[in-house]
Amino acid sequence: MDKIEAYAKANNIPIMEEFGIKFLTDFIKENKIKRILEIGSAIGYSAIKMALVDKDIFITTIERDEQRYQEAVKNIREFNLEDRINIMNVDAFDAIVDDKYDLIFIDAAKGQYIKFFEKFKENLNYNGFIISDNINFHGLTKNPDKITSHNLKALVRKINNYIDFLKNNEEFTTNFIEIGDGISISKRSK
Ligand code: SAH
Ligand code: MG
Repeated sequence: MDKIEAYAKANNIPIMEEFGIKFLTDFIKENKIKRILEIGSAIGYSAIKMALVDKDIFITTIERDEQRYQEAVKNIREFNLEDRINIMNVDAFDAIVDDKYDLIFIDAAKGQYIKFFEKFKENLNYNGFIISDNINFHGLTKNPDKITSHNLKALVRKINNYIDFLKNNEEFTTNFIEIGDGISISKRSK
């Protein structure tokens, strides 16, 4: 695991932060989550961490970048988890996913979160959760005035649109957790 963390650091791959991944794996344990769909595998770090929570956990994870996908495949194999982590090298918007999951973890292109949510909620079990990472985006979503770059401003605006989308969503109720880079947990409203 140290090796994967070092590789991520050296190659600027934004894997989950220490406290964020701890929160996520504790959440999976407490809620006895068994089937997980992850959007954005990168090099497999969070998928491996989640799979190691319990031997009954099965994960489908999607990564569009070929090089990261290859690295993830290697890492998953090193942990002997290829039977429990199914990784797909495809853009999530082109992916055909039929199964239902207890948890959908969104950790891919930050500007597309509403679209990911809308597409993959169809794959959520009735009592399942949708968790999204990087809701605070390094604290920038709360301080958009501090940003000078035009592209970054546009991205942060999109994340804030996602936050509003979640807050105003009648089908789902969302809790926002101030851990790691900010996490949201959405569940169908009763
Ligand atoms: N969950 C990983 C980190 C993911 S980083 C971890 O914590 O270990 C985000 C990844 O999402 C990047 O590798 C990027 O290539 C991928 N990504 C972004 N948009 C995507 C899309 N539309 N479909 C599939 N993968 C995507
Ligand atoms: Mg992330």
